[in-house]
Amino acid sequence: MSSTQLIKLFDPWRSKLCTCPVKYSFDPYTGCAHRCLYCYASSYIRDFYNCRPKKNLLKIIRRDLEKLPENTIISMSNSSDPYPWMERELKLTRRCLEEFMKSNLRILVVTKSDLVVRDIDLLKELRVAVTISITTIDDWLAKKIEPLAPAPSKRLKALSKLSEEGVNTGLRLDPIIPFINDDNYRELLIEARNCGVKHVVSSLFKPRYDSWTRVVSSFPEIEDSLRKIYFLEGERIGRSWYASRELRFRTMKKVSEECKRLGLGFATCREGFEELHTSQTCDGSHLIRKTI
Ligand code: SF4
Repeated sequence: MSSTQLIKLFDPWRSKLCTCPVKYSFDPYTGCAHRCLYCYASSYIRDFYNCRPKKNLLKIIRRDLEKLPENTIISMSNSSDPYPWMERELKLTRRCLEEFMKSNLRILVVTKSDLVVRDIDLLKELRVAVTISITTIDDWLAKKIEPLAPAPSKRLKALSKLSEEGVNTGLRLDPIIPFINDDNYRELLIEARNCGVKHVVSSLFKPRYDSWTRVVSSFPEIEDSLRKIYFLEGERIGRSWYASRELRFRTMKKVSEECKRLGLGFATCREGFEELHTSQTCDGSHLIRKTI
């Protein structure tokens, strides 16, 4: 029998800065079609922007699910998006959700697509929470940094619909890129709150070689300023460059204060600033309903 496993223990490179609870990670697709400039998954997945369905997906996950204990958290997805454009036709993520219905699991859906709303009938029946990534409320800017992802306005509508239907939602304001979206997120947070979002998770951009190249090619006017932040004043942790701790903390503190004013829970992602966290978990898994 093949030893391939698709639902795997989440291991974010054993980073000391990761504060995620124990959970499993699952990607129905390999690669991603949204083409975000800042994406880190493109640094470790071959032919990343050629999004393709996993082979023998359902057969393998049925086998994986048999081995998982009750209450396991499955996060879908961390290295891709479960709702790329082809999901509209293929309905693979939908079929995975149907499989999840057969086990007593907790599911955290992480997406950048409003297509998630199509599956609201299943999401209402599962122990689930949905977090949607939105980095700016400005559709024009989003088109530049996340060229093929649905517009932020559509993602906000999706958050609103999910919340209305009783599905708990979170916002991933992630990443914040200095000089690009670091000072215009207040309106986004207000909109998200008005759409029923309960929790926000955020982090500062941590470039790797390929995401760095994409960002500075699209924003050459800020290349020198970013170089200073990352390569002169910042540090390298693993395969990523981090801005200085001081800048990361200052930026996250500003977001946390804004969230506090708006009554939103807050946490950081791979920053290590637990003192700023007001939510029970960073990734939003505390939003998953305890019982159905
Ligand atoms: S949606 Fe996520 S996985 Fe897809 S390209 Fe954007 S950052 Fe990468």
